[in-house]
Amino acid sequence: MYKRVALWVLNDLRLHDHPALAAALRNMPQEVRFVYVWGPPSVDWGEFSFPPNWPLGLPRISQARQRFLLESLLDLAQRIHLEIVFGEPHKVLVRWAQERGIEAIYGHREWAPEEVAYQQATEASLREAGIPLFLYEGNALYERDQLPFPIQSLPRLFTRFRQLVEQAVAVKPPLPAPANLPSIPQVSSQTWLKEKLHALPPLSPLGFPFKGGERAGQQRVREYFAGPVFSYKQTRNSLLGWNFSSHFSPWLALGCLSPRWVYAELREAEKKREANESTYWLFFELLWREYFRWLMACWGRKIFAAGGIHGYKLPWKREEALLRVWIEGRTGYPIVDAAMRELATTGWTSNRARQIVASFFTKNLFLDWRWGAAYFETQLIDYDVYSNWGNWLYQAGVGTDGRGFRWFDPLRQAKLYDPSGSFIHLWIPELKGIAPPRLFMPEPALRLRHDYPQPVVDWSESLKYAKDTYWRAVKGMPKGNQLLKLFQEEE
Ligand SMILES: Cc1cc2nc3c(=O)[nH]c(=O)nc-3n(C[C@H](O)[C@H](O)[C@H](O)COP(=O)(O)OP(=O)(O)OC[C@H]3O[C@@H](n4cnc5c(N)ncnc54)[C@H](O)[C@@H]3O)c2cc1C
Repeated sequence: MYKRVALWVLNDLRLHDHPALAAALRNMPQEVRFVYVWGPPSVDWGEFSFPPNWPLGLPRISQARQRFLLESLLDLAQRIHLEIVFGEPHKVLVRWAQERGIEAIYGHREWAPEEVAYQQATEASLREAGIPLFLYEGNALYERDQLPFPIQSLPRLFTRFRQLVEQAVAVKPPLPAPANLPSIPQVSSQTWLKEKLHALPPLSPLGFPFKGGERAGQQRVREYFAGPVFSYKQTRNSLLGWNFSSHFSPWLALGCLSPRWVYAELREAEKKREANESTYWLFFELLWREYFRWLMACWGRKIFAAGGIHGYKLPWKREEALLRVWIEGRTGYPIVDAAMRELATTGWTSNRARQIVASFFTKNLFLDWRWGAAYFETQLIDYDVYSNWGNWLYQAGVGTDGRGFRWFDPLRQAKLYDPSGSFIHLWIPELKGIAPPRLFMPEPALRLRHDYPQPVVDWSESLKYAKDTYWRAVKGMPKGNQLLKLFQEEE
């Protein structure tokens, strides 16, 4: 039907299991181009963004995040005709398409408010020019119509969501990558990507060997499913090492990996060796990813409100000095500081570490949780709007955590997950001479000697303040807290 078509790629930087690409190819076009818009909502704050509601003026994406994105784009550009255009999609795509005689554009549907706003505005401007934009679902395990409930009735509790989808829905098999494409790699975009990559600082030798792109992602999956996955349940809360968890998240976030393909590979690995509680647990974690996507589709902008989906009136602090201390890893709590320094240096930190630092941020510093989420957004190489804001909402107690006020004790966490102190020693070299258990909370004189800061807040007092304030806000909700009641009914 259409002779010249284009794929507008965003968080789907792959060729396998790509429903939009499959749809574009169905009518055998003569020419297929791929276009990536270097601008909002991927690398810049734009017209439809919430103002970056925080004070430090950091760019939207850190250098580490940029590196992974550039590598992923380069991996595509080496195989297909990928062009990079600059600006906001609804402003630049029409002209780009008209100049090339493109008759239809295909892409994947997003569910987050800013991405949706850009997609709608782009669809409208293309429609005016007589170019249809076709959007498909493509980055989740399930499609919206497969869910056994209307999206507005998404269970408030993850457990209920998991039970319902596990009982009722099968993950569809992934689509194969097209055998050949009427498309030839474009040299100029490769040159631009290589130059941008070249200008970035090298990967920190202390971090993990992440390399962006579909091919590297698929290789990582094969490597992990050949062995380490079979003990994932036992190792997944560790802080150090390449194989304690899958490390798939950056590839999943940019769509270099399709979750349905990962799921199919997992089932294959189970057939080849065994299905055990670890292989199940990896699927369980993919369901968390899934849950946060649908949570955003259900709640939209409320996910970004200070009081979250409940609208709690919480007096979050907005103190820049505290924010800075947390970002720079100088809170005086070694496990928190080690994780924050790892994040700042590499763009990645483990799930356990993310929980510890987010808890400290919301339950001890009592800072506006959206500042924490916005900082993670700039830094994480696996930044994913759904998983990041959903997890922060949950950690702040204004999302879908049935317990409401959840907190982590940094001392206990360090003893449990860094018993030898290797993680702290790696990221806080000034504490190298101190052994556990003193390392976990050195006394004041020792800190002075090692040039390490005193605790920025008293842990018990700050926790008590946060807890009292939180429950007062919950109880102060009109007609009691209806949403918490809903949680109880679901449980
Ligand atoms: C405050 C906070 C912010 C976070 N921000 C992000 C983010 O921006 N992007 C992101 O991908 N994950 C985020 N997570 C979830 C989780 O920390 C990472 O997915 C995980 O650490 C990635 O490591 P992995 O790939 O080795 O995970 P594994 O433990 O191997 O899990 C396999 C996959 O399951 C998914 N997954 C695991 N845990 C979660 C979870 N809690 N929520 C959603 N998906 C999960 C990921 O896709 C992950 O790659 C956040 C967690 C917290 C507490």
